[in-house]
Amino acid sequence: MNSDLEKLYVDAFRHLGGERTVPPIDVRFYPYAGLHHTIRLRSGRAYVRLSDICKDSPTEVQRALAFVLVARLLSKRTPAIHERIYRDYSLRPEVQRLSDIARRGRGRKMISTARGSVYDLDRMFARLNKRYFDGELPTPTITWSKRRTRRILGHHDRVYETITISKTLDSADVPEWFTEYILYHEMLHIKHPAKILNGRRYYHTEAFRTDERRYPRYHEAQRWLERVARQQRTARPRAA
Ligand SMILES: [Zn+2]
Repeated sequence: MNSDLEKLYVDAFRHLGGERTVPPIDVRFYPYAGLHHTIRLRSGRAYVRLSDICKDSPTEVQRALAFVLVARLLSKRTPAIHERIYRDYSLRPEVQRLSDIARRGRGRKMISTARGSVYDLDRMFARLNKRYFDGELPTPTITWSKRRTRRILGHHDRVYETITISKTLDSADVPEWFTEYILYHEMLHIKHPAKILNGRRYYHTEAFRTDERRYPRYHEAQRWLERVARQQRTARPRAA
């Protein structure tokens, strides 16, 4: 799957491993909570899991990282040049920023899953995808929020392609069509990327709103939102 990446690991093994046979290598990206990578040998196979933060990093950085990880696995010293390239990359402000976001957002999110005690978000997603998107919407990571957030009922994170739905909606007191509506709203964010106008970002564009009203119980959902607000005596909760 990541054959170009795997070649970099083969190279690193050849350089650092001496006479050792190069093991078959399996490289994957993983949504770790931070800039974190792992490498291990199991049954003669090397498993590499790279933080998806560096998914788009230049080949030079990937090569450096391959040397860093293989050296770690073989208890060898990392060649200075690779050490420096990877270090410089990891200290870049945009990489640090993504790493912070991942640490803050994921450490918790990663524990929860799409399957709640009442509703299964993955199944719900598949159903909505088929019904309203011809099954063509790419599947994001979907999770219930760890905390029972009441103001924000749903959130779509573009950087990590993650949809988080408030745990308050995983309840038998909440009708399925309402939880579905919130998920549908977040799915529309995948279909309709934000538009930038005069330096401002618009998430709920006209096209977005038009699609949103196609949800058969759209108006009922709006009324439900009002009702929840009255009960909570707070501002109307929303899907972000
Ligand atoms: Zn929204």
